[in-house]
Amino acid sequence: MNISTQAVQIGLEWDTRTGAVSVPIYQTATFRHPGLGQSTGYDYSRSGNPTRQSLEDGMARLDNGARAFAYSSGMAAIANLLLLFRSGDHLVVTEDLYGGTCRLFDKVFNQFGLTFSYVDTSDVEAVRAALTPRTRAVFAESLTNPLLKFADIPALSTLCRDRDLLLIVDNTFLTPYLLRPLDLGADIAVYSASKYLAGHNDTIAGLVVVKDAELAERVYYHQNAAGTVLGPQDSWLVMRGIKTLGVRLDRQQENAAKIAGWLKNHPAIAKVYYPGLEDHPGHALVKRDSRGFGAMIAFEVATHALVEQVLLKTRLISFAESLGGVESLITFPEVQTHADIPLELRARLGINNTLLRLSVGIEDGSDLIEDLNQALEA
Ligand SMILES: *Cc1c(COP(=O)(O)O)cnc(C)c1O
Repeated sequence: MNISTQAVQIGLEWDTRTGAVSVPIYQTATFRHPGLGQSTGYDYSRSGNPTRQSLEDGMARLDNGARAFAYSSGMAAIANLLLLFRSGDHLVVTEDLYGGTCRLFDKVFNQFGLTFSYVDTSDVEAVRAALTPRTRAVFAESLTNPLLKFADIPALSTLCRDRDLLLIVDNTFLTPYLLRPLDLGADIAVYSASKYLAGHNDTIAGLVVVKDAELAERVYYHQNAAGTVLGPQDSWLVMRGIKTLGVRLDRQQENAAKIAGWLKNHPAIAKVYYPGLEDHPGHALVKRDSRGFGAMIAFEVATHALVEQVLLKTRLISFAESLGGVESLITFPEVQTHADIPLELRARLGINNTLLRLSVGIEDGSDLIEDLNQALEA
């Protein structure tokens, strides 16, 4: 079955008693016991809630995992995964990582004896060179933020399997609709569901999908122990979003391809990063492993003065953080999302004072181009 069909089916099987097509929102903290030592399967909503479970089951099917887990945010999901490690363990991590993930690793979990090496995970040899006897995992973003570097998951998976390392892939930018990390050899996929999965800029949520049932049991133990679970209302919103993932991403990608091509030929644009462009370094690999190029574009304007002009003059495209929703958003990574990345690293990566990041929405593509065009005019 095509994944867009599978996505629409999410939750449909749930309420066999009434046949409700939309999963009910079980807004309850606790569940009555039918008898002493008996349970309906639900006791307390931190440990399990039917609405959250329905999202988790649906997501496990979409990403071909043994189980999935829903968290109160993408960061909560990533923090929960770090509980798999212990003091002294070392992780090799994507260097142009989402700023919040970098902060969590370097400013929080480093206090508990975890160490992290930042490398270009699109370069398998660089990852190999960073491994130490204490390395326990590789944490890579499938498509990075904001420069859209692409990780070779099959090659990383071979490297990790040989050394018994976990391969964790943050697949927020592509979603299972375009790429399924577990099918390509990853052990765990993690998502900020606040982005494409929920898809409407209205919910904060995180999801983890685990391939192996035994490892999933450990993740579940930590989810319940730390308790950063997603509430029933937000679980319902994420499911509602996932149902339209396919149509949204089809339209967003179509718009993104048009806009990237147009930007490339605009005299006030110095550089365009979009994996669908043939000169993008990851173009061939993305084509091999992903059903599409996604809908995120980064571009450099010719002068720093143009940054503020574009951010303030765009009318349809909102100047706001976040990405992946139906509304197009534009942001300035150096200040808005990547301020926690050390300056030297930002400079080396190309996150500079002319770089803008555009999350392309589902509006009409020519309206978006018209909006950018008038914003770029002095
Ligand atoms: C937004 C984001 C996160 C963090 O998710 P939240 O839902 O904001 O906590 C993690 N990774 C990537 C790639 C993101 O874009």
